[in-house]
Amino acid sequence: MSVDQEEHAVQNRDYDLFVIGAGSGGVRAARMAAGFGARVAVAEDRYMGGTCVNVGCVPKKLYVYAAEFGKSFKDAQNFGWKNGSPAFDWPTLRDNKKAEISRLNSIYDKLLAGVKADVINGRARIVDAHTVAVGEQRYTAEKILIATGGWPHIPKFPGSELAISSNEVFDLERFPKRLAIVGGGYIAVEFAGIFNGLGAKVTQLYRGPLFLRGFDADIRAHAAQEIRKTGVDLRFDINVQSIATVHSGLRVHLTDGSAIEVDAVLYATGRKANLDGLGLENVNVKIGDAGTIVVDDEYRTSEPSIFALGDVTGGIELTPVALAEGMSFARRQFGGLENAVDYEFIPTAVFCQPNIGTVGLTEDEARARFGKLRVFKSAFKPMKHTMSGRDEQTFMKLIVDQASDRVVGAHMMGPDAGEIMQGIAIALRAGATKALFDTTIGIHPTAAEEFVTMREVWRED
Ligand code: FAD
Ligand code: NDP
Repeated sequence: MSVDQEEHAVQNRDYDLFVIGAGSGGVRAARMAAGFGARVAVAEDRYMGGTCVNVGCVPKKLYVYAAEFGKSFKDAQNFGWKNGSPAFDWPTLRDNKKAEISRLNSIYDKLLAGVKADVINGRARIVDAHTVAVGEQRYTAEKILIATGGWPHIPKFPGSELAISSNEVFDLERFPKRLAIVGGGYIAVEFAGIFNGLGAKVTQLYRGPLFLRGFDADIRAHAAQEIRKTGVDLRFDINVQSIATVHSGLRVHLTDGSAIEVDAVLYATGRKANLDGLGLENVNVKIGDAGTIVVDDEYRTSEPSIFALGDVTGGIELTPVALAEGMSFARRQFGGLENAVDYEFIPTAVFCQPNIGTVGLTEDEARARFGKLRVFKSAFKPMKHTMSGRDEQTFMKLIVDQASDRVVGAHMMGPDAGEIMQGIAIALRAGATKALFDTTIGIHPTAAEEFVTMREVWRED
């Protein structure tokens, strides 16, 4: 094609950008690109807002709030509140959640309509490097963005079809009074806390010696201790062999030869890139060993007109990361702006009871990178529970590079750890030293002030 012919073809394409998937990354990229004047279409086959809004962060956090009321009613008694015994009603929570998510779905519709992006309902299939089909209809675009996210992965074993995933757990018809949860990552830990808090008997099964792989070792050990105290039957070095239907529910046979009876089995064993029926066989988009789409630092795949970002590319599967990638992509491709995402010091939280909040390196990672460290810790009973009587310990930890005095990791398990860690993340990104933490005045009385009052070295290389 000559340059003139190419220009003509570009002008005659239906869109400048065709986004596949109206989730966190896709919607943000579409809105920003349209804001720069691009003609944009977004195809979505299930729900506006994607995983986070419909079966992820948002309904999960609403359920976490629900779960935390249970203990709060008890805590209140020593503060003078005399209550009866409140009862939990699953359909109320589930249906109010549904209504809230519907409200959010329509906000996403409005956001895209507001920037004049076309929303196309249906599953999109790539036909060639510039063409996407939704049903019988074909659309041409200068650039195609794959933002199709991930999908729960349940391994195959006898009875695996009886297990549910996080996609189904939010809308169960009946509350599972006895629940087995398989996995030791974010979802397994969060849902163990949710259903335990709502009153179910929860058994969490993890295949390794200690769950939450990838988190700081002290936090993992502390989390096991605290979660057990809340009543979750947390078992390590164990897995499921088979699941069978029995008169009273499901019988789960375990690798140690024992069996448990439950009403439901939730598998939270990771997610796989959502590529089914996407038509990648029609283009030259490289898939990596993990089954995710390989991209360069501009989110371009090995097919030059096709880009991908968010969970479908693997990496750090968090909504704010997908959002940042969507913005970076749109700014660069449609705004002419350089805006690389900085993947260092990304804070994250696990919304168990109490929360885990973390930013920067674990102690092991920091030692491998910097050599000599100074490590500070604080462990205490939260002030509220000195009177509530609840048996709960907060744990906080700072990891400092000896040579530079820079704080390179901050970790916490305690109430509101997610909220606290957001601010600490800014300090770490700014390169704050331990001396700077020490000269920062605390807010009293809070748990967060411990981060600026840890004076005694706990471990020193
Ligand atoms: P998604 O949000 O998954 O969006 C992809 C969209 O593409 C979907 O709407 C899908 O229907 C659509 N789609 C797929 N294929 C096609 C096709 N061929 N045609 C048309 N449409 C298609 N992250 C956090 O930061 N904090 C949390 O607290 C948190 N909690 C979570 C809890 C759970 C239970 C889960 C499962 C995830 C959670 N996450 C959380 C992760 C977060 O939801 C994801 O990282 C984020 O949604 C990824 O965004 P994305 O744009 O890559 O994909
Ligand atoms: P994770 O990858 O976090 O955890 C998967 C867990 O399942 C691990 O403990 C893993 O064990 C275990 N596992 C994997 N395969 C098997 C198997 N065949 N048999 C038994 N156990 C197995 O995935 P999740 O599904 O929990 O969550 C997906 C992602 O979503 C998270 O990584 C996170 O990025 C995001 N998310 C974020 C949240 C937040 O920000 N609060 C909340 C929920 C999800 P092992 O460690 O041994 O490999």
